[in-house]
Amino acid sequence: MKVFKFGGGTLKNADTIRQMTEIVRDSGLGDSGFTGSVPEQSRRGDSELVVVISAFNKMTNAFEGLLKELDSDDINLRLDKILDYHREIAEQLLIDSDIFWREIILPLIAELKETLQKARNYPYDQAYDQVVSFGEIFSTHLISAFWIQEGLNHSFHDARKLIITDETYREGKVNWKETAKKIKSIPESSLRLCSGTGSVNPESRVPNPESLILTQGFIAGTQSGFSATLGREGSDYSAAIFGHILDVERVVIWKDVPGVLTADPEEFEDTCKMDEISYLEAVELSYFGAKIIHPNTIKPLQNKGIPLIVKSLFDPDASGTVILKKAGKAPDLPVIIRKRNQVLVSIQPRDFSFIVEDALANVFSILARNQSRINLMQHGAVSISLVIDWDQKKLDAILEALLPDFKVLYNTGLELLTIRHYTKAVINDLTKGKRIYVQQQSRKTARFVLG
Ligand code: ASP
Ligand code: MG
Repeated sequence: MKVFKFGGGTLKNADTIRQMTEIVRDSGLGDSGFTGSVPEQSRRGDSELVVVISAFNKMTNAFEGLLKELDSDDINLRLDKILDYHREIAEQLLIDSDIFWREIILPLIAELKETLQKARNYPYDQAYDQVVSFGEIFSTHLISAFWIQEGLNHSFHDARKLIITDETYREGKVNWKETAKKIKSIPESSLRLCSGTGSVNPESRVPNPESLILTQGFIAGTQSGFSATLGREGSDYSAAIFGHILDVERVVIWKDVPGVLTADPEEFEDTCKMDEISYLEAVELSYFGAKIIHPNTIKPLQNKGIPLIVKSLFDPDASGTVILKKAGKAPDLPVIIRKRNQVLVSIQPRDFSFIVEDALANVFSILARNQSRINLMQHGAVSISLVIDWDQKKLDAILEALLPDFKVLYNTGLELLTIRHYTKAVINDLTKGKRIYVQQQSRKTARFVLG
């Protein structure tokens, strides 16, 4: 059994959806694909491939846009744009648009409109998850309809009923016990079995044993039945959750790049693909801000020794990058990660007490309460400097909490540059002409806060 994840950066139009469908079709559905290293009890002949899909292209941003216009007439314009985008893809895929629209999309639109109404009464983060989760619901319904038309049998599952989180909206913490219970009962409860024949109406589909499961990334549900999300770009994490619970043989993240590269190809000309990296290296890279994988993805896989493969949608036979326990020895190429929109906050107790002894616990709990992750920190005797992602709302709340006890200075608009396996030449090249606010160097990693 395997998990494939296709993200919005990859699924942008009808062509890429066709390409994805070919990959799924060619994936050896029906052959168990077992390697000796997978425990016997994990054998699940009834379902061989779980496909995790996120919202298409920039649709998550588009749904975020709906929330901004909750009280204005522009909301209808924005809604129309979202619908037109999906309609165009459906037309290009030659999905029987009348039935698709009537049976699937119109009820979804009604549900979305009702959700938008209710969202006005929720706190922002909760409203966000109720609305934004529709991006994944639209994309997967469209793909399901396309697969039905293509005769690709599958069962469709709403991840909001499978991945259960607490009520930390926009950053849901997974309840692993409940989630395991739900995911492990998938085959028995195949809610909607979709075959290549018959109507697109879920209720009238013909049930038969399936080896292909279609579900959403990023979205989850709370025990009280609200939608939740796992944080932006969180569909990689969803794939890892399914992989971990189903003890799969591997998880594959399909991208529009050949694998994990040494730098962002949009910014640097000379990038190399890394063939193999260890879980540890991958955690470091994603934590420092490499956009290739969501930072939460690695742990669930590492705990079970499940390899994660990152490869290209456009070159499925190429090997990509394999992330596993022990990577083969490769040259230590410098890996460059740039995180923009950073804030450097310098904090000093007003009474000049020593920062480490007296005040640190207080500072950290204020950050944790505001769900602000520290990207870098450095302290002296009486002050500490922290680098966090810029989010004005969170920053204001943090400042308000700190100011009674601390003197606080901050700079916005900074860049956090991380170079793994650095060389002097690379450091010089990347910091030339820039103001260095903070710098840290360990044996393997050099980090700079640049203005
Ligand atoms: N669609 C969500 C986002 O854009 C999740 C994901 O793509 O992983 O953040
Ligand atoms: Mg995405």
